[in-house]
Amino acid sequence: MKTAVYPGSFDPVTLGHIDIIERAAAMFDEVTVCVLENKAKSPLFSVDERVKMLQKVCEHIPNVRVDSFCGLMVDYAKQIGAHVSIRGLRAVTDFEYELQLAQTNRMLSHGDLDTVFLTTSAKYSYLNSSGVKEIAAFGGEISQCVTPWVEEQIWNKIRENKKSQK
Ligand code: ADP
Repeated sequence: MKTAVYPGSFDPVTLGHIDIIERAAAMFDEVTVCVLENKAKSPLFSVDERVKMLQKVCEHIPNVRVDSFCGLMVDYAKQIGAHVSIRGLRAVTDFEYELQLAQTNRMLSHGDLDTVFLTTSAKYSYLNSSGVKEIAAFGGEISQCVTPWVEEQIWNKIRENKKSQK
């Protein structure tokens, strides 16, 4: 069975991520979307909330499961027996960072984990989670960036945060 892992922050999951997940699911027997905990970032959503959102938006794809992990991606991939990591490439600016990451993961896994890059669909090439959060923080339109249910979670979270800051 060909298993791939799609790691990321997914804070929050965007239509660009979903597009990559759907396309990866058509290429592999099983795709595990893994929310990686990054202690250096202060996320809008907790890991559990991000997992829940991913589960909801991937409901229609039977061979996708969602998980989370705190640690090195190569260790997670080994744990689930995945030899392929999926990453999305938007613009040239993504390339340098992604190349380094892919080579580092190959080194750390002693050649056991390769990275497959899927190029973004042109209509989502401008999309990233940080941008969505910035637009939302100023009350801007995000319905073209995320699913309606995720949009609702974002507005709820922003309201909650504002309340707790008062
Ligand atoms: P972001 O860069 O949006 O914060 P993540 O850290 O969650 O995203 O990224 C996980 C993976 O998804 C990365 O490989 C990233 O390049 C890819 N990705 C993010 N947004 C898009 C998009 N709009 N189209 C294609 N791939 C994307």
